[in-house]
Amino acid sequence: MELSKLLRPNIASLAPYSCARNEFHGKQARIYLDANENPFNVPFNRYPDPLQLQLKSSLSKLKGVPAANIFLGNGSDEAIDLVYRCFCRPGVDNVVAIEPTYGMYRVCADINDVEYRPVLLDERFQLNADRLLAATDAATKAVWLCSPNNPTGNSLLHDEVMRVIASFQGIVVVDEAYIDFSAEASLTRLLATQPNLVVLQTMSKAWGCAAIRLGMAFASREIIDVFNKVKYPYNVSLPTQQAALEQLQDPFQTDKWVRQLLAERQQLMQAFGELPITEKVFPSDANFFLTRVRGAQHVYDYLTDQGIVVRNRSRVTLCGECLRITVGTRSENTELIGALRRLG
Ligand SMILES: *Cc1c(COP(=O)(O)O)cnc(C)c1O
Repeated sequence: MELSKLLRPNIASLAPYSCARNEFHGKQARIYLDANENPFNVPFNRYPDPLQLQLKSSLSKLKGVPAANIFLGNGSDEAIDLVYRCFCRPGVDNVVAIEPTYGMYRVCADINDVEYRPVLLDERFQLNADRLLAATDAATKAVWLCSPNNPTGNSLLHDEVMRVIASFQGIVVVDEAYIDFSAEASLTRLLATQPNLVVLQTMSKAWGCAAIRLGMAFASREIIDVFNKVKYPYNVSLPTQQAALEQLQDPFQTDKWVRQLLAERQQLMQAFGELPITEKVFPSDANFFLTRVRGAQHVYDYLTDQGIVVRNRSRVTLCGECLRITVGTRSENTELIGALRRLG
């Protein structure tokens, strides 16, 4: 794979903005008069580290990925958008994605005026590599996979994912937002041998940090360097970097939450299976599950009236009459099941 041929020509030749904190590569200075900052109001007066090196060092140890292979953004949504801005010529190139999946891939394609080609999963929400690859052509710059997938909850078949990565000549993005809830290993272990692979993760789910907005992309050094060149200079704020560092000090807390949520999910899925309205409960490797019910809109409205919000996915391809249920605390889940039992 030649990265320079995949990139948009304007990005390949881009001279990036050089911010004050980039140009200063010295050791700790005593006096900073380089960035037109206000010397008062410590610590919020200073621009944050544009490359978030301390945070990357911490993540590097935790994930077993070198810091040079990590991009950090304002949620994984920033990395999703960067794939389009770096690789896809508006009105010319296209991307191929599994369907159904996370809605942001399509929204970002639309925003960037890039053709979006959805390829249906099978009735078990599984990926067929040949069918996906058949939808690609010379103008396909990226393929979107999501495993465990949202809104279906299942992991994609490992062999099929591997065939896509091995066969496709462009960028293969695997969104692992829910990987911490899954028994499957992260594909970050393939980065050293797969220069076309981009793995996305986030602090928004298992780490319980959706509010701080911190997403990660793991990829070859070449791809990470391009993302860093195109991103806004100070894309991750100081409070976000500090909060993330603090949360990363306590991975056992995250493990505990995950174990608890998985136990709750099992109980909740079993309780759903016994409700008269339930037609199907789909298997899940995430902190949510998809269920097909009789009268999804009615059930949704009823729950909303009780102050309980779930996600109505009825209008999503292959998800007719389906609700997506996020696993909550024990008492939240008990209330949900209680309300649905009263519905009869
Ligand atoms: C929740 C989710 C994300 C997280 O996005 P952030 O911008 O990091 O909060 C990414 N991908 C998928 C598939 C998700 O469901």
